[in-house]
Amino acid sequence: MSKLIMFFWAILLVTSCSQDLKQGTLITVKGKIPVEEMGINLIHEHILVDFIGADSTGYHRWERTEVIERALPILLEAKQNGVRTFFECTPAYLGRDPLLLKELSEKSGINIVTNTGYYGAGENKYVPKQAFDQTAEDIAKVWIDEFNNGIESSGVFPGFIKIAVARKDTLSLLHAKIVKAAAIAHKATGLTIVSHTGPEGPAFAQLAVLKEEGVAPEAFVWTHAQDGTFEGHLQAAKQGAWISLDNVNKNNVDKPGGIDWYVALLSKLKKENVLDKILLSHDSGWYNPGQENGGNYRNYNDIFEQLIPALMENGFSQKDIDLLLIKNPQRAYAVKVRKTG
Ligand SMILES: [Zn+2]
Repeated sequence: MSKLIMFFWAILLVTSCSQDLKQGTLITVKGKIPVEEMGINLIHEHILVDFIGADSTGYHRWERTEVIERALPILLEAKQNGVRTFFECTPAYLGRDPLLLKELSEKSGINIVTNTGYYGAGENKYVPKQAFDQTAEDIAKVWIDEFNNGIESSGVFPGFIKIAVARKDTLSLLHAKIVKAAAIAHKATGLTIVSHTGPEGPAFAQLAVLKEEGVAPEAFVWTHAQDGTFEGHLQAAKQGAWISLDNVNKNNVDKPGGIDWYVALLSKLKKENVLDKILLSHDSGWYNPGQENGGNYRNYNDIFEQLIPALMENGFSQKDIDLLLIKNPQRAYAVKVRKTG
């Protein structure tokens, strides 16, 4: 090899290595971290959800000390299982509490990520009144303001956009507006759009809106994709969207979400070479302010105690597991504007 070629080869090697080191940033409730520090992730869980409705919810509905007493031991169990980063997917007007999450992050030593956005599912009960008459641009402005200045006066910043639409093939005008607002906010902030969706009909309807707005499918997490079909998963993955299979639950024996069901689906997805678009979580928790001592709080352990051992017995390697729980979340949630073309 001539010296010149070796010289260029060395430069190429150095630049590709330094690019590897700079994969991006995640915004946690305690501030920015490099995505390399995310470790093992749970990308869709809850600490607190308040179902009373946008017109009645507020911080007066719960005592932070009580919620912490309930949630901290369960978070520490997750930490024992190796979890380093935890995405709390409760949106505003449904019980999002940035100061609660910050305190839990400090006490547990786990990175916690919160969000901005509006939740349209549930007959629009959780959408604030003012949003009905606002334009997509006005709504986006509220979310972009949280990205720039923090949530209220908490000093906590959102790390992703969380929205929700109804389980219908056609988006209502309000839901189309919320998706458009998410696209505008994404282009201004680089935050990933995580949308409570379910079946593939509304997933593809949302991807179409994003495309119209020039946002790439790589910026979109199809949440609760376990309610879609395998063909839908393949098609969305081919487009570049993230497929969030987020209902792992050992109690769902012989049902979607159960361990055997997950092993079968993930094996099929591995065979099709699309594991690099798959995200896993439990959608578990949480403290419910309407109930005695927060009601029934399910832990975040099934992936580690049940699913991973079952996957390893069924031909999955440590590399596959790391892809699902470490690498994919790094790529999905690194703050970065993702435009089409
Ligand atoms: Zn959820």
